[in-house]
Amino acid sequence: MRSRATRSKATEALAYRIHAYAESSAITALLTADFGAIRAVAKGAKRIKNGLRGPLDTGVLYRVRIGRRGSQGLFHLHSGSVREAFACIRREPVRFHAACLVLEVAADLMREEEPHRELFRLAVFTLKAIDRAPVDRVELALTLFLARAVSLSGHVPETDACLACGGDFKGRGRLLLSPSLGGVVHLECGHGAAGVRPLSGRSLALLTDLWARSAGEILAEPPRAGLSRLRSTLMAWLEYVLERRFRAAGPADRHLRA
Ligand SMILES: [Zn+2]
Repeated sequence: MRSRATRSKATEALAYRIHAYAESSAITALLTADFGAIRAVAKGAKRIKNGLRGPLDTGVLYRVRIGRRGSQGLFHLHSGSVREAFACIRREPVRFHAACLVLEVAADLMREEEPHRELFRLAVFTLKAIDRAPVDRVELALTLFLARAVSLSGHVPETDACLACGGDFKGRGRLLLSPSLGGVVHLECGHGAAGVRPLSGRSLALLTDLWARSAGEILAEPPRAGLSRLRSTLMAWLEYVLERRFRAAGPADRHLRA
């Protein structure tokens, strides 16, 4: 009996993890535009000459052709070509660690075999920005990514009014972001709540700006005050609501502060 035909399709893919498999092959965790997160066997991936035109590398954007027999099991990576190698990300540690964090967060938010094109586009856009922007914009690109990732995660903090007392934030310099309450509260209202993180009035204004305006417009401007605090507060928010620690967060933080 003939096996079911292999259906194959071209899509864009970011290689997230690559494990050696058999003698010359690899199993790759890919974030793709059309299939969501998948695992695929890349036969001959470690050979210099293969359908991928060279060894696979993490963090690289490929145009790949993938398929599988039937609707279960591993995908096969038939061929691929590099769309974006992100050479500067590989050269500079601060860009590299920021990019690792982007990939790790995107991989956590992307479900298996469920396309999430908005998240995929956001990850690719951010990697391009981290690769090409002046080095003093890397933190801005990462923070913009985290702000949008928070929106896409389905755990969007309430920022309009204090979740404890209902009061507004006008003229308040020091606020808290409380994941257990679900958003921003006054310093005195959020005291003692689980997982609270400081958020200045400036950082809150910056966050609403990152949500409201176009990414290109934001990245064209110099970074604003309150950016570092907003970045670490958003990171803590994501770790709390997703109930996990991101391994790349520590190294990214150290290099951005250096
Ligand atoms: Zn309050």
